[in-house]
Amino acid sequence: MSLRDLLISQIRAQGPMRLDYYMAACLLHPEHGYYTTRTPFGTAGDFITAPEISQMFGELVGLALAQAWLDQGAPTPFTLAELGPGRGTLMADMLRAASRVRGFTDAAEIILLEASTALRDIQADSLKAYSPRWIDNIEALPEQATFLVANEFFDALPIRQFVRDGSRWRERQIGAQEDALVFGLGPTQPQPALAQRLEDTKDGDLIEDCAAAAPIISTLSARITAHGGAALVFDYGDWRTLGDTLQAVQNHAPTDPLNSPGHADLTAHVDFEVLLRAVPPCTPSRVTPQGVFLERLGITARAQTLAQTLSGAALDSHIAAHRRLTHPQEMGNLFKIFGIVPQGAPMLSGLEI
Ligand code: SAH
Repeated sequence: MSLRDLLISQIRAQGPMRLDYYMAACLLHPEHGYYTTRTPFGTAGDFITAPEISQMFGELVGLALAQAWLDQGAPTPFTLAELGPGRGTLMADMLRAASRVRGFTDAAEIILLEASTALRDIQADSLKAYSPRWIDNIEALPEQATFLVANEFFDALPIRQFVRDGSRWRERQIGAQEDALVFGLGPTQPQPALAQRLEDTKDGDLIEDCAAAAPIISTLSARITAHGGAALVFDYGDWRTLGDTLQAVQNHAPTDPLNSPGHADLTAHVDFEVLLRAVPPCTPSRVTPQGVFLERLGITARAQTLAQTLSGAALDSHIAAHRRLTHPQEMGNLFKIFGIVPQGAPMLSGLEI
């Protein structure tokens, strides 16, 4: 039975389905989920992420975290963690670059939060030199100094959508019409948790709510406050998202999110306001465009050094990768980053308070 058929029979039995439930099933269903059944990243997959574009991304992130580790007195041992590590490329590039910082890799315990067993296998292979350990939820992070990165993780967390109706809301739900999945609206209900969105919306506006996002940041912030550490979060999104940002991508092209459950990547824009509000008692940096951050860390100098060893098509693709990561019309502006450090600690390199 396909995931579509499974979902349709469930809707027939139980009524319309919430979007967060649909999204979780499409991405992580043990048998049919998008991340559980394939490796979606890279030129052969459906989309390409910053660490898969160039090794420079992971190298600079690794050095920024290693600098923060030095700034905080090189706590030993410490956790070097990643949320949603994909193919393990970012972590591998970080560790290779940061091995130049004396003591860093020896003191690091590599912890990966990954829901997909298929991707865990791939990560085990790309990181076999470092004996990583996997955790199922953020609370399982060890009680010690924690230096963490997340790239395109929060955009994969399931969201709900609500349409404003007076001072109440109607939830966007998924129903079944013959053999097709279709969107509809649930009954008008009060939603006390959305009270602050009555300030910036009008009747008929659609807003999104990602319940899982803020608790992850809060837990992380508590760890970093208690034991030291830092976090870097990269994603695309806005400050207070407004409107429908759910998108599905299949074979590098947009598709209807209800069209092929389990076969397309589903993401939604990250609401940076929600994440930043969860950071205290730690100190957040400003939300900074990815291009600005990478330039401040010296990506151009690194690109020039690497270019000296390249020629022909390899050189062309290296130049294109540099541009893709940093140029305002490519990923440079669309992707944003913020950092988290304990109160009073120096902010991460490339970011400002
Ligand atoms: N960071 C990688 C991959 C981004 S794709 C890169 O930049 O290339 C999203 C990643 O998060 C995948 O590894 C996916 O399996 C994982 N993921 C998605 N939802 C998750 C969840 N709820 N819990 C843990 N991991 C999740």
